Amino acid sequence: MSQKHFDAIIVGAGQAGPSLAGRFAQSGRKVAIVERKLFGGTCVNTGCTPTKTIIASAYVAHKARTARSYGIAVEGAVHADLKAILSRKDEIVGKSRDGLESWLRGMENCTVFTGHARFESSTELRVGDDLLTAPEIFLNVGGRAEVPDMAGIKDVPYLTNVSLLELEELPKHLAIVGGSYVGIEFAQAFHRFGSEVTVVEMGPRLAHREDADVSRNIQEILEKEGIRVRLNAECIRLERDVAGVAVHVNCGEDDQPTLATHVLLAVGRRPNTDDLGLDKAGVAVDEHGYIQVDDQLRTSVPGIWAMGDCNGKGAFTHTAYNDFEIVAANLLDNDPRRVSDRIVTYGLFMDPPLARVGMTEREVRKAGKPALMGTRPMTKVNRAIEKGESDGFMKVLVDAESKLILGASILGTGGDEAIHCITDVMYARAPYTTIQRAVHIHPTVSELIPTVLGDLKPLEPSGQSES
Ligand SMILES: Cc1cc2nc3c(=O)[nH]c(=O)nc-3n(C[C@H](O)[C@H](O)[C@H](O)COP(=O)(O)OP(=O)(O)OC[C@H]3O[C@@H](n4cnc5c(N)ncnc54)[C@H](O)[C@@H]3O)c2cc1C
Repeated sequence: MSQKHFDAIIVGAGQAGPSLAGRFAQSGRKVAIVERKLFGGTCVNTGCTPTKTIIASAYVAHKARTARSYGIAVEGAVHADLKAILSRKDEIVGKSRDGLESWLRGMENCTVFTGHARFESSTELRVGDDLLTAPEIFLNVGGRAEVPDMAGIKDVPYLTNVSLLELEELPKHLAIVGGSYVGIEFAQAFHRFGSEVTVVEMGPRLAHREDADVSRNIQEILEKEGIRVRLNAECIRLERDVAGVAVHVNCGEDDQPTLATHVLLAVGRRPNTDDLGLDKAGVAVDEHGYIQVDDQLRTSVPGIWAMGDCNGKGAFTHTAYNDFEIVAANLLDNDPRRVSDRIVTYGLFMDPPLARVGMTEREVRKAGKPALMGTRPMTKVNRAIEKGESDGFMKVLVDAESKLILGASILGTGGDEAIHCITDVMYARAPYTTIQRAVHIHPTVSELIPTVLGDLKPLEPSGQSES
């Protein structure tokens, strides 16, 4: 075994590790970065990039099918060619992955190791035949699809976000277990490609972290397109069937299983921390395996940091990247940035997208803050009407005393971009009136945000209470 010494070792070339390697190398530190599989990690290879790429194909299919309503004639039936869709996806993903790998390999002061890294001690990691040592180690090991121990899971074939994107043929009937972000995005995309799709959700509503009105709207949009949604599936059981897999949903005798050709599991993620040898380093994890970190992403062991999905502080590419920024700012820039400075924000990239920032209405009510709320349906947003995409609504919550914006949800066309004018004002800690006085471009979705803010009403205590 050969021993190699560095100033810093980074494990995982996901969304935080490569950028940190770049900053360290630039500052003259000798850095090693270890990747066991695909450079770019989940987001580039099996998460954000491939899903948003196929969602773009699904959008085109949908527009082609509805072209007549825009006065455009499309001859013949619209047919989705899965092979071509996935090869477009592979090309986009491949460019991103290869670009990252060659950037790292060509970086001065940086050595790339391919293989699985495992701790030998708090300053040593084994990668194949190499023993890497460094006084500072940064973990960016990400996560993978959770495979729950549900009844029948060992007896049937199932798909995850990885294998679904490798199929050669379109599923005739795709059952999706899990009605949250990943499940919803795949449900709409595959339905638009031509699969029959059923979403099976244990809880009483889709996207259960959202407000009840948001969940209801999401369900209506999916059902309007023909996607079947089965909620309150308290007894999910999988069984082999002539068609493929029978997905049983309730415990009673009236159980009417969904007979699917394929089953996708979309029930959450788990961190890649069980095979890292964390015990040898003494790094503490929580009961779900997430590495415990403080506000500056230091683990329980001095000299070891954890960034990205593996620390449980975020589950998105932008939170992983922000973790890199926090570590780099603290270690290299003498700038004490913290995780607690971050405002929650994310998108659900169905069509129309849901964009979220800050608190939900439910959270505001729970906090008992005197608050104001403004809403507007997308049927009253000119740009949405002109585009023929007027599903959804927007909602903004404001602190009644400080006038600071507490949070917003925009479920509607362009919402994933428009939300940022709210986000930026929240970071500036400026009152909502700042947006109200800003002149926005017509016709956009953003131009209606000042209008929503001009019509704020006190949040009635008797409002939404569904949890
Ligand atoms: C279907 C899907 C869609 C998504 N869409 C979005 C989206 O639209 N927007 C968004 O913000 N987020 C999205 N996400 C989430 C996003 O992909 C993750 O939050 C993000 O990739 C986390 O980055 P990370 O750097 O923490 O981990 P990862 O990207 O998972 O990278 C971790 C890397 O570490 C490597 N590794 C692990 N263990 C070891 C080891 N022991 N030795 C060496 N290497 C190791 C892995 O191979 C991997 O390359 C999506 C996720 C999924 C599954």
